[in-house]
Amino acid sequence: MRCLVIEDEQESARYICHALRVAGHEAVSCDNAVEGELLALTGDWDAIVLDRLLPGSRDGLDVLDSLRRAGRQLPVLVLSALASTDERVHGLRAGADDYLTKPFALEELLARLDVLVRRQHPPRATSQLQVADLQLDLRSQRVTRAGQVIALQPREFRLLEYLMRHEDQVVTRAMLLESVWEYHFDPQTNVIDVQISRLRNKIDRDFDQPLIHTVRGAGYRLSALTSPETSLLEPPDGKT
Ligand code: CA
Repeated sequence: MRCLVIEDEQESARYICHALRVAGHEAVSCDNAVEGELLALTGDWDAIVLDRLLPGSRDGLDVLDSLRRAGRQLPVLVLSALASTDERVHGLRAGADDYLTKPFALEELLARLDVLVRRQHPPRATSQLQVADLQLDLRSQRVTRAGQVIALQPREFRLLEYLMRHEDQVVTRAMLLESVWEYHFDPQTNVIDVQISRLRNKIDRDFDQPLIHTVRGAGYRLSALTSPETSLLEPPDGKT
């Protein structure tokens, strides 16, 4: 994860950034609200660690407020020496996702950040598609079937992603042209059939269970279910 640490106490900032990097994350620190706000609004961060009390006229909660007003929903963990219940409630109401009082253990800070980031990006819902033993990871752009890595061209990857997102549904040529090729007209070529055939060679040929099915006269369907209709219509490529 990419983490912005807005903290004016140098030693504390250094410890936090070091701990984040040791845990395999990227960390950038900044020691004042003005610069922190600018970085928070313009950078691509997965989480922000924000000290409540900062020097100058703007404090951590002002930074948080302007971030939320700008519609940025990324997780923010507020650090503060102000430990009273009122202060914590105030911080959480201001839009903090979590509030940790000083002094704290670095392990706890890391664990809380992990929870916040995981909550923001549930990994299976957003990055992994799966149909039977076929898996597609959107983040790493990796496709495997039964654990074997399958190398795909970019277009094949998008085609497979589209089919997997429409698992068990009939996908027409028009839908594929529009979504995968971004053609808003029918180019009157066999481009889709060629691409499906290549994809089939990679996804299905070496496996017993075909996943890509032709629905004659309609289009294609990616499914682990072999309906009677499908098996009648479509002899799997060269396999019995
Ligand atoms: Ca401070």
